[in-house]
Amino acid sequence: MMHVGKSKAMNENLIAIFLSRHAGFAAKPALIWQDDVVCTFGELPAAIGRARAALAVLGVKRGDRVMVKAENSPGFALTYLAVLATGAIFVPVNPAYTASEVALLIEDAAPALLVHGSATAVPPEGDGLTRATLNPDGTGSFSELAARLEPDFAVEAMAASDLAAILFTSGTTGRPKGAMLMHRNLSSNVAALHDVWRFSDADAILHSLPLFHAHGLFVALHLGLYSAATVHLLGRFDAAKVVSLLPTVSVFMGVPTFYTRLLDRADFDRAATATIRLFVCGSAPLLPSVFAQFEARTGQRILERYGMTEAVMITSNAYDRDGRIAGTVGYPLPGVELRVVGGEARAELGVGEIGDIEIRGPNLCAGYWRRAEATAQAIGPDGFFVTGDTGWRDASGRVTIAGRSKDLIISGGFNIYPAELEMVLAEVDGVTDVAIIGVPHRDFGEAVVAVVTTDRPDMDAALIAAVAQEKLARFKQPKAIRIVTEFPRNAMGKVLKAELRNRFADIFAT
Ligand code: AMP
Repeated sequence: MMHVGKSKAMNENLIAIFLSRHAGFAAKPALIWQDDVVCTFGELPAAIGRARAALAVLGVKRGDRVMVKAENSPGFALTYLAVLATGAIFVPVNPAYTASEVALLIEDAAPALLVHGSATAVPPEGDGLTRATLNPDGTGSFSELAARLEPDFAVEAMAASDLAAILFTSGTTGRPKGAMLMHRNLSSNVAALHDVWRFSDADAILHSLPLFHAHGLFVALHLGLYSAATVHLLGRFDAAKVVSLLPTVSVFMGVPTFYTRLLDRADFDRAATATIRLFVCGSAPLLPSVFAQFEARTGQRILERYGMTEAVMITSNAYDRDGRIAGTVGYPLPGVELRVVGGEARAELGVGEIGDIEIRGPNLCAGYWRRAEATAQAIGPDGFFVTGDTGWRDASGRVTIAGRSKDLIISGGFNIYPAELEMVLAEVDGVTDVAIIGVPHRDFGEAVVAVVTTDRPDMDAALIAAVAQEKLARFKQPKAIRIVTEFPRNAMGKVLKAELRNRFADIFAT
C-alpha cells in the first residue's frame, strides 16, 4: 500500500548517499592498493561495517570525535567511512605532526578515540585516551580488531546539518583552527564536482594525495565513491609510480609540485597520458609556465580549481579545453556565491579590481570548533565567509587569485600582490619557482624580496632584476633577490612564506 503525505525523512548521511549510488556495480573494484583490489563496490558495505563494529567495541558513539593520525592506506579510508556511518565526527591529523603539536589538537578536539600509525608521533599514554593502531601494511590493533568482527551494516540517520568532520586548517601561521564540516558540505560539493568535471562510472582515479587533507579526502576519494569509479590509492606521490599507473586510469589530481615533478621525467609524455581525460590541480597556485610546459609535453591542459579546508571546493575552470586557462581558477561551483570586496565599507568591487574574496554556499563549513570568536570574525552576519584570499573577477565572472591577504605587501604606501610578480619572474629563463615576500624596511615600511629557485648553475640575480625592470612598475620591482636551493613547504606543497620572511627579515636592517 502506498503511503501519501508524511514520508520518512531522508537519511542525509554522506555514507548513505554514497552506498545508494553503487547498485549495479557489485563486481567492480572500489579501491585498489598496491595493485590489489581491496574491495569491490559490492564488498564495500561489509568492509565499512567491520570498521564500524571495531569503533563500537572501542566505545565510539554518535557525536564522538575520532582522531586519525596515519599515513594513507585502505584502512584509513575505511575508518573514515565507518566513523561517518556511526554518526561520529572524523578528525584527521597530518602524520608528520610532532607529539606536542598533536597534543594541542587532542586537547582541542577531545576525541573519544585516537587511531594512529605505529610509526607516527603521539603523546605518551596515560592520558585516559583510548588508542588503536593502523598501518599502511594492514597491521595494527584497529585493523586486526575489525578483521575479527561481524560487520555492522547500519548507517546512522543524520541530518544535512550534522557534523561529519573537523579538519584543522593547515595554518601556515598561528594555532590551527578546526573547520567543522557538515554532511551537507561534503555531499553538495561532491555532487557539484561530479557534474562540473563530468564524472561517471567509466572513470578510474589515481589518488596520490594525502588523505588527511580536504583535497585527498573530500575531492579525490569522494568523487570515486560518488561516481562508482575505481580509486587506485597510493601511499604517497611517487612520480615514477604515477607515470607507470597513469595508463590504467582516466583522472589524476595533484598539487603544483606533483606536476613539476612529473615534468622532470623524460617518460612523462603524450603516450603516458593518453588515457587521461582530466588532470586537476589546486591547493596552491599553478604557474602559467608549468601549465604551458604541461600542454606542450602532453597535449593536455590542466584544469585548475580553488578551494580551502573551510569550504572544500569553491571555483573551477570550465571543463572544456578552451575553458581551462592558466593563472585563473575559473568560476564559482553551482550553488556557490563569490564576491570581491574592499575599502572601509567592504563594498563589492568592480571588474578587474583586486579585493578580498568572500564566499557563501552549501559548501561552507559551520565555523570553527569551539572558537566562537574566530567563527564570528570569519563569517559575517549575512553568511559570507572571509576566505583570507585576495583576487579579482573579469567581466565574465572568472576569478583570478592575487594572494593571501596576509601576504599582501604594502611598500611605500602601494599595495603589491605577490602572485602577479611571481608569474612575471617565473618566466625568466632558468627560474624554476618564485616566492615574493615583504620584509621590514625603514623607508618603505616593507620591501619586496624575490626568493627564487633555479636549475641554472650560472644563475645571476642581475638577470632577474633586468626582467623585473622591464616588466614591472618601479614600485613593484624587488629591492632584493635571493637564490635558494629549495623553498620550505607544507605537506600540500604550499610555500611557507612566514618562514621565508623570518629568514630574510634582516636584509634591510639598519
Ligand atoms: P587549505 O585549507 O590547506 O586547502 O588551503 C587553502 C588555501 O590554499 C586557499 O585559501 C588559497 O590561499 C590556497 N589555494 C587553494 N587552491 C589554490 C589555487 N588554485 N590557486 C592559488 N591558491 C590556492
